[in-house]
Amino acid sequence: MGRALIWFRGKDLRVTDHAPLAAALDAGGDLICLFVLDPHFFAPARARGLPHRVQFLLESLRSLEANLTRLGSKLFIVPGRSVEVVPRLATLWKADRVLASRWSEPVGVARDLRIAGALGRQGVPFELHEGETLAPPGTVRTGDGRLHAVFTPFARAFEQRVLVETPLPAPKRLPPPPTDLARVETVPAPSLESLGLRRNPEVLEGGERAARARLKRFVDEALGGYSISRDRLDQDGTSRLSQDLKFGTLSIRTVWNAVRGHGEAARRFRGELLWREFAYHWLRERPDLLEKPFRSEFEAFPWSRDEALFAAWKEGRTGYPAVDAAARQLRETGFVHNRARMIAASFLAKHLALDFRMGEAHYLAWLTDGDWAINDLGWQWSAGCGCDAQPWFRVFNPILQGQKFDPDGAYVKRFVPELASLDARWIHEPWKAGRRLDYPAPIVDHAAARARFLQLAKAHLKAPA
Ligand SMILES: Cc1cc2nc3c(=O)[nH]c(=O)nc-3n(C[C@H](O)[C@H](O)[C@H](O)COP(=O)(O)OP(=O)(O)OC[C@H]3O[C@@H](n4cnc5c(N)ncnc54)[C@H](O)[C@@H]3O)c2cc1C
Repeated sequence: MGRALIWFRGKDLRVTDHAPLAAALDAGGDLICLFVLDPHFFAPARARGLPHRVQFLLESLRSLEANLTRLGSKLFIVPGRSVEVVPRLATLWKADRVLASRWSEPVGVARDLRIAGALGRQGVPFELHEGETLAPPGTVRTGDGRLHAVFTPFARAFEQRVLVETPLPAPKRLPPPPTDLARVETVPAPSLESLGLRRNPEVLEGGERAARARLKRFVDEALGGYSISRDRLDQDGTSRLSQDLKFGTLSIRTVWNAVRGHGEAARRFRGELLWREFAYHWLRERPDLLEKPFRSEFEAFPWSRDEALFAAWKEGRTGYPAVDAAARQLRETGFVHNRARMIAASFLAKHLALDFRMGEAHYLAWLTDGDWAINDLGWQWSAGCGCDAQPWFRVFNPILQGQKFDPDGAYVKRFVPELASLDARWIHEPWKAGRRLDYPAPIVDHAAARARFLQLAKAHLKAPA
């Protein structure tokens, strides 16, 4: 009988459908549950730059701790750099294997390689289990072995070849931690205040139980209308599960399986889960995407880095209500509706011709669901330089988008209260209302900004620098 060290990380904060936990339980023997408070994420200065993610993560960590205790085990929370703590504890605690869930992001891949090397030198195997995606990234390929560069054939190939298995149940009981463990410094899950942060009540509750409740509400109440209402800015028509998938308070296959038997609505919803899958497949294949455009002809594109324009966009002062509502929703709640993300990102990259990576970094910092792979795909899609992206010459019209997806202006009025008393006719073009408003005039003219971007892009793409 061996001794397994289960290393929980920030993307698998659950006990249900947790492959490393199930594998260790199956093997029998001792089981030690670990979470490392790595300064890479938890140093106060770093945490303050990711306020909503840190809030959700800490709540989820406390929930995981409580669940493991309830099942008879214990979560050891140890401060320090993972690359040092994990190999040190494996030796100190006489573990004969370390198990964890795989990460696809370059930062996680690099960390895991170093840890595998250190553990290998100690003769301790490091087992990485899949679970971050429905199929291991990189496994759905074309006949000649390439990744699909277009989403629809990718999704078709996925549906034909991948059988998504039933999620593993939560364990009924776990063995107590071994009694002979050498003492090490453990700490309680930090409070937000200790990291210099204040709780934002608008951020959804963390933890596995809250995630399950969200999934149930979505399947019972919203899934039926998903195909239509998912695009409406003024309706709660989507699942609101993105932070759960990001932090693993629900496994992706739990969500995939929960919609089984719901016909066309499930097909549409699963299509979105496959966009997530597509993003992960590509990031694993091309880790450099976090730095450069997918389409090489966009390298050296003459994006602007105008700080004044960027500040107006971030603070919701562009004078375009749908764009500004998105900016304020992000800062106030840690979430932005998908349609609003597309409108806001397109505006930044095309109307303002700002480097999309400025917006990408801002989103990653403020979104609760901020996810390297999906965020990058979304930004590159919007800027027109990504994999299966919106063509560069399509420029979203923020007025028409607003009128179509927020027809009465309820979304705008919620986040841009200066416009609350405006008649719905003018809500997406308030400058036409003929009233003095405490709201900025448009910082660029839509038609002129569109023409300017098209000219810029045409000139660059004809003769890339
Ligand atoms: C510029 C931009 C940035 C984005 N950044 C992120 C991000 O950092 N993290 C993130 O999770 N999503 C991101 N998205 C995708 C999408 O906006 C969110 O996943 C969605 O709004 C989350 O709400 P939901 O869970 O209610 O979505 P639902 O409509 O209920 O979708 C269910 C799940 O499918 C996945 N999904 C939905 N839409 C997409 C999409 N367009 N691409 C890939 N996966 C998708 C998500 O995991 C989502 O939780 C971004 C999109 C854009 C345009």
